Amino acid sequence: MQRTLSIIKPDGVKKKLIGAVIAVFEEAGVRVAAMKMKKLSREEAEGFYYVHKQQPFFPELVEFMISGPVVLMALEGDDVIVRNRELMGATDPAKAAPGTIRARWADSKQNNIVHGSDSVESARFEIGYFFAEIEIC
Ligand code: ATP
Ligand code: MG
Repeated sequence: MQRTLSIIKPDGVKKKLIGAVIAVFEEAGVRVAAMKMKKLSREEAEGFYYVHKQQPFFPELVEFMISGPVVLMALEGDDVIVRNRELMGATDPAKAAPGTIRARWADSKQNNIVHGSDSVESARFEIGYFFAEIEIC
């Protein structure tokens, strides 16, 4: 059993896709083990995406991530890190496989509805960034 961090980004919340995105996870047999809605501070968004600090898109990414509330979830299931990435689709929605969350609903490389951890190490860091162990069911 594995855990990963999922975020419904501000564009997903604004487009009223919270229920639709969670339905994708639940229909795929992925369990929501923790969930909260939060408006990230600038410091929280910068710390979360610290691996991208040197990227030219970093300042815009931070502005985007603090532009409205997000939904934070710890997902649980077999091989859930890779499976969640498959359900999400490629970063660029134009390259995302048909039927994936990003192919269906994302507008751009930046405004791409969801985040998902990309490795066991990042999942551990990212879940711990937003959730105390006691909050995970
Ligand atoms: P995430 O980490 O959010 O799950 P990802 O792993 O598919 O997405 P990353 O390369 O980690 O993609 O980039 C993190 C986020 O930064 C992307 O989801 C997107 O919102 C933004 N981003 C990435 N590349 C670009 C780009 N070239 N232009 C604008 N925004 C970008
Ligand atoms: Mg990433």
